[in-house]
Amino acid sequence: MGNGYAGKILKIDLSRKDEISTDPLDMKFAKKFLGGKGFGAKLLYDLLPPKTDPYSPKNPIMYVTGPLTGTLAPCIRYCLVTKSPLTNTFNDTYAGGDFGQELKYAGYDVVIISGKAKKPVYLQIFDDDIQIKDAQHLWGLNTYEIYDVLKSEVNEKTAKVSCIGPAGENLVKFALVDCDLHRQAGRGGAGAVMGSKNLKAVVVRGTNGISVADYDRLEKEVQKISHDMGITDKFFAPKLQAGGTPAIVDFSNEEAVLPYKNFQDQTSDIAENLNDKGQRKSFWLREYGCFACPLHCSKIGMIKKGPYKGTVCDTVEYENVGLLGTNCAVGNVDALAYSQNLCDRLGLDAITTGNIVGFTMECFEKGIITKKDLGGLDLSFGNWKNMMELINMIAYRKGIGNILAEGVMRAAKKIGKGTENFAIHIKGLESPAWAPRGTPGVGLALMTADRGGCHQRSNPVGLEVFGLAWPGGYPTERVSIKGKPDLVIWEQHHYAALYSLLMCEIFSHAGITNESYASLFSAVTGWDATYSSLLSEYGERIWNITRMFNWREGFQREHDTVPPRFKEPLPSGPAKGHKFTDEDINKMLDEYYSKRGWDEQGKPTKEKLIELGLDSMASD
Ligand code: SF4
Repeated sequence: MGNGYAGKILKIDLSRKDEISTDPLDMKFAKKFLGGKGFGAKLLYDLLPPKTDPYSPKNPIMYVTGPLTGTLAPCIRYCLVTKSPLTNTFNDTYAGGDFGQELKYAGYDVVIISGKAKKPVYLQIFDDDIQIKDAQHLWGLNTYEIYDVLKSEVNEKTAKVSCIGPAGENLVKFALVDCDLHRQAGRGGAGAVMGSKNLKAVVVRGTNGISVADYDRLEKEVQKISHDMGITDKFFAPKLQAGGTPAIVDFSNEEAVLPYKNFQDQTSDIAENLNDKGQRKSFWLREYGCFACPLHCSKIGMIKKGPYKGTVCDTVEYENVGLLGTNCAVGNVDALAYSQNLCDRLGLDAITTGNIVGFTMECFEKGIITKKDLGGLDLSFGNWKNMMELINMIAYRKGIGNILAEGVMRAAKKIGKGTENFAIHIKGLESPAWAPRGTPGVGLALMTADRGGCHQRSNPVGLEVFGLAWPGGYPTERVSIKGKPDLVIWEQHHYAALYSLLMCEIFSHAGITNESYASLFSAVTGWDATYSSLLSEYGERIWNITRMFNWREGFQREHDTVPPRFKEPLPSGPAKGHKFTDEDINKMLDEYYSKRGWDEQGKPTKEKLIELGLDSMASD
């Protein structure tokens, strides 16, 4: 009888070609930290000395799977964990597709890559056959060009590839890792860490099976999930299936949480061109999905007219509609699709790129950056042709692109002239497309997220706007701060547990019940669990580990805040006039820290760490 785990951790030191080894996965460790985010958080905390430069060979990049990966359980991704060069915080970044499943079939729960190769290499993992191979001929290729070359080189069409583009090679601090063309582990600069190691790609092929504790129970649970998705219309399954994440654009625009012109406002007339209907009309051709996903929220398409005609492209996901689209005042849906495609090919995180371009456009509007600074480009809001030029300049660190490649926090510091007042980031990570004025719970979630301004740690926007209760919780009022710490704490534990199981969060809105997560976990591992025990046993423990990691790096209360723009009154929309005041921020933080058992600076107390079984961290 199995328990879902492959049972091995693969360790590779690129500085020493002969340094490849495997350790058995310690089942006590697995039972305590679950997988995905949990494994990555504990391993990074233990392996990396505090204050290590993210580009040091000592900073590992880890490919992490979980117990459900490669089983019948639907919608499982994998994650990359490292210290972020953009924020210096803990960083976990996720991708769907089927790379994670292949890695598990090759026999590994985790691959830890440290060191730095002397020249460009790629890593070939075919079951037990592990090779570090020359990649000098691949260096310079974009993420789309590399797949065919690499697959034919390893003579294995079914192999799965994860790679970086020119941005990762050039150490752009928000470079992504691309996975089999259509999926990206985007945030926090994992691609730059790979680039710093001269690691261009990882190619994997696995032929082993995964055995689980109770196959019949797993099969029944998967059937129940499909049934729940089919019968309900109170969740978003039909909407997400038909329209993908762009189906959220109308809600976000109507409720004024969609960034416009570098977050100057949170609603815009151009949004309706960019939603699911606009994209379907212009370029969508057919749907596709990740490994074992019954939802298939993604679409493949081709631009049919204009200068980018013939470009094969993906759905422009909600975040990129909000950041490369409305945030830059780009209302041309074909140009938007091309800009996302360009970011993917160059290997740039499109969320951060949309922020950086919006920031540069505002600098241009205010006369702080001129055409001369931009090599002759007119970078007025909405100028999508020149936006493409700027994106290329960033990826290749050309001209002003060299400053912007450092991320908006460092760019604003370098440019000065008051630009820090409209650099939209939290702890150095640029904000997602959920502008928080009018939803203070979203603001608190961004302030306290463990990798900086991130919506994937908690994003209670729907619960706030509709005044809904969370499981075991209570309804709150939209612009009130009352109850928001409780709401955010619940959701942070919920996502920490889900990301340790590596469940796709889009799928989590499609009808799967919270109890199903626990049931899938128990069926696979054979360990008893309920939804509530997943949160209290794993979610809270894992959240405290990442907080301790960041604390050790020097992050504390003063860093848990919002950018100055969100302290200005919101110009329009249902929550017009709302802004974050220092008083509200402090009240929310006081309550949030106290309910978490942290001290007033936001450090987990010894008692809390011991209660969570993290005794070894209690003296740090
Ligand atoms: S819901 Fe979409 S992103 Fe999530 S697993 Fe399915 S296809 Fe992939």
